[in-house]
Amino acid sequence: MALRRDPYVLVIGGSDSSGGAGLVRDIETISSIGVRTSLAVTALTVQTHEAVKEIHQSPPSLVADQMRAALQANKVAAIKIGMLASPEIIFAVAAVLRENPRVPAILDPVLASTSGRALLKAGAVAIMRRDLMPLCRLVTPNLIELALLIGAEQAIDEDDAVWQGQELLAAGAQAILIKGGHAAGPRSTDILLRHDQEPIRFDMPRLAASMRGTGCMLASAIAAHLANASPLEESVRKGKLFVFEKLQKNAAE
Ligand code: PLP
Repeated sequence: MALRRDPYVLVIGGSDSSGGAGLVRDIETISSIGVRTSLAVTALTVQTHEAVKEIHQSPPSLVADQMRAALQANKVAAIKIGMLASPEIIFAVAAVLRENPRVPAILDPVLASTSGRALLKAGAVAIMRRDLMPLCRLVTPNLIELALLIGAEQAIDEDDAVWQGQELLAAGAQAILIKGGHAAGPRSTDILLRHDQEPIRFDMPRLAASMRGTGCMLASAIAAHLANASPLEESVRKGKLFVFEKLQKNAAE
């Protein structure tokens, strides 16, 4: 069959049986923006909304094979990376990204579930930072992930978060979107940091709603807009609005 020309997002991540996060959220988000998805499954998890009960990792070579097949079958215009589970899977994903340097990748550095279960093996954070992060167009840590990525305490205010983000840029990231959703206060502020450019703040009212999978949704929405040829800043703005509207709808239900 001929190569399809409509843009796809290749989603790399874990399944969540509850549907609250992971691949289900990614596919829902990207298809609601009108972009198609292809898949590389890194892990199968057994989850409710309260707990992660089991994690079964894919063999790393299977992850790489899924990625190569997806890239061969479709016009992959962006890649979204979520749960990676192990250092070996990080190496496999990094190898295929190196073969496809023109496809922008968004890395949501998933380290643990809200319920506290590790979704990436201990010791793999440094490997993610060194071997994968520099290959990605954007990394989207929350304040907890940002602190873990640079080996610091969680930022206490915005200046501290920006300083930590600059450290991550210095460690090789191309661009970082710091997600302020876990901070206190009436506003929810995300900050986009890039080399040689002023930080850009994306500020929204904080909603009372709490919802699982918002990190998955944001990175997926940004990837979908990048696949639709929007520039990075505009993709982030549209992605943030997408999550805000979902939270607003959730709060109203
Ligand atoms: N399960 C999978 C497969 C995920 O990718 C993630 C987050 O990205 C989670 C669970 C955690 O989601 P939450 O923190 O919303 O529970």
